[in-house]
Amino acid sequence: MDFVSNESTNPSYEISSLIAPTINTTPTTPSSSSSSPISSASNNNNNNNNTTPTPSRYENQKRRDWNTFCQYLRSHKPPLSLPLCSGTHVLEFLHYLDQFGKTKVHNPTCPFFGIPNPPAPCPCPLRQAWGSLDALIGRLRAAYEENGGQPETNPFAARAVRVYLRDVRDFQAKARGVSYEKKRKRPKPNVKG
Ligand SMILES: [Zn+2]
Repeated sequence: MDFVSNESTNPSYEISSLIAPTINTTPTTPSSSSSSPISSASNNNNNNNNTTPTPSRYENQKRRDWNTFCQYLRSHKPPLSLPLCSGTHVLEFLHYLDQFGKTKVHNPTCPFFGIPNPPAPCPCPLRQAWGSLDALIGRLRAAYEENGGQPETNPFAARAVRVYLRDVRDFQAKARGVSYEKKRKRPKPNVKG
């Protein structure tokens, strides 16, 4: 049988899809694998229709992210299995993803540090944006438990990961001159004069 393996050895495809979630993916994936180990928390009504239910964009993205991470573990030197995976490895994974980043993050020594729209190019590195990493970790944290992982040992919920994401957020906010804090609505004071 011609089983179409979507476990490509080239990670760049899947990586790019998790970096650019706005990419137009045609939902034509032949879902030949019907054996999902996921205990189906089916909140949608399966009426045994012939129309194959298309998973949501979030679910698709989550599955792709999960595949990417599992592939990362397999290619890890030395190879890593999921039960051995810790928050440290999750951080390694995030650093690995940075090389595919598209967000300019200025070094503190850069004259454009803290300037939202720099007037000229600079040699500062491109990174994964904090928002992308934060969303990615959220999806992987859910996927881990959906794939049988215990919440107590969920490496994506590790304290080190939370601390790292907070640091990334704070640093990128400073470096890019933007605020990730939720804007608090404050009534404009009436300035006299
Ligand atoms: Zn710079």
